[in-house]
Parts: sequence; structure tokens; C-alpha cells
Amino acid sequence: MPKSILLSALAIVSAMLVTAAVFTAFKHAGDSLGVAILALALGTYCSDALSAVVHFCFDYVIPDRFPILGGVAKSFRDHHDNPILDPGTRPENYAIGATSAAPLAVLSLTSEYFSQGGQSSHLASMCLAVMAVWGMFFHQIHAYAHMGSSVDVAHYGARIDQIVLQHSSRDRRRMLNEMFDGMPIPSFVRALQRLGILLDPVRHVSHHREIDCNFSSVNGWSDALLNPLMRQLVRRFYVTPNFNDSH
Ligand SMILES: [Zn+2]
Ligand SMILES: [Zn+2]
Repeated sequence: MPKSILLSALAIVSAMLVTAAVFTAFKHAGDSLGVAILALALGTYCSDALSAVVHFCFDYVIPDRFPILGGVAKSFRDHHDNPILDPGTRPENYAIGATSAAPLAVLSLTSEYFSQGGQSSHLASMCLAVMAVWGMFFHQIHAYAHMGSSVDVAHYGARIDQIVLQHSSRDRRRMLNEMFDGMPIPSFVRALQRLGILLDPVRHVSHHREIDCNFSSVNGWSDALLNPLMRQLVRRFYVTPNFNDSH
């Protein structure tokens, strides 16, 4: 079977599970709107934190030869040197998202099944459903921070180097914003990036340059909490990161 059909099938099955989880968890959301809004915010924050932890594991912990996940980990590490990730490769991006979305959707459905009307377990199943939705899209969101097929990667890297090395932090931010505004990112996606609801490529530049921070791939809300911890972990255990090594 062609790889693209297999990836599309994986993404479709996962999307069906995510849809079922959302409808099941939120079917009575109108009865307790406050709890639903809390679940939306909490689930979004936890998704961002989970994306950062998983990304950290792919960058530093999981070896290339690890069953199944080793290939994904290698692609994450190769991505630092060659950031050609593109939103046009949808089956692949959503299939990678499905690896986190499907288990989260199953957890949400299981939690709802056993909730027995309890408020806290109901909140947990709603949070997990929200996380499953973000999980489905996290790699596509990351791809919108790169637009790989639309840029000359060497030129893109050189331009970022020039901006980062030659300008003050205020000018740097303004110039990077101008650079990404000029890229063919769909305008509604770029607006959400600028609002910090989707991963802003300006924020993601720091991950590619410093490699020990900003691991999040949803919106960056958890970076402030996780960056000090992850920097410490990298310095303590991975003094000289070698992304093309098998660890
Ligand atoms: Zn990385
Ligand atoms: Zn990236």
C-alpha cells in the first residue's frame, strides 16, 4: 500500500476518534459553561507543555534506532539543520499528529465513560479531548512556522543569522516579524501566530538557534515554565548536543 494512503488512513482514523472524544466530553458543556471554558484553557496549556516534553525527548532522549519512534526522533533532529517542514505535506503532518491525538482521544473517552457524573473527572475528559484536538494539529502548526517548500532554506538561515547577530532585541523582533509577514503563510494563520494562539515563527527561531529552549509546538504558552528546566537538563546531561548522533 502506498505510504501516503497509509498515512492518510492513520490521520482519518485518529480524526474520527478525536471528533468522538470532543462530542462525548462536551455534549453537556452548556450546563456548566465555566468548567468548559476552564477545560479549553487548561487543555490548551497542557497540549503546549506536552508538545514541548515530547519534542525534548525526540531531540535529546530517543535514539535513532528506537522502534517506531526512532524514525520520528531522527526527523526532528534532522529538522534543525534542514528546516524544510511544510504545511503542504498534510498526510504526513497529520499522521505525526495522530500519534499523540489518538491515545489522548482514547484516554478522554475512557475517562468520560468512568466519570460517573463527577465534576473533576468530567473536567479531565474535556481537557484530554482539547489536548487531542491540538495533538492532531501540532505538527501542521509547526509546519506553518517554517513554510519549507516556499523558502530557500540556505537564504532563510542566512537572513535570520544576519538579523539576530546584527541587531538589538527590539529591532530583531520587528525585522523577524516583517520577514515572516512577507512569507506565504495564510493570513488567518499569520494573525493567530502574531496573537500567540498558534506557534509564532519568531519565537520558534530561538529553538533552532539555541537548541535548548522553546521546545513547544502549539503556541509557546508553556515555554516560560519549561525553559529553565529544559535548559538545566540539556546542560547537565547533554553538554554537547549532537543531533545527528544515535545517542
Ligand atoms: Zn527541536
Ligand atoms: Zn522547527
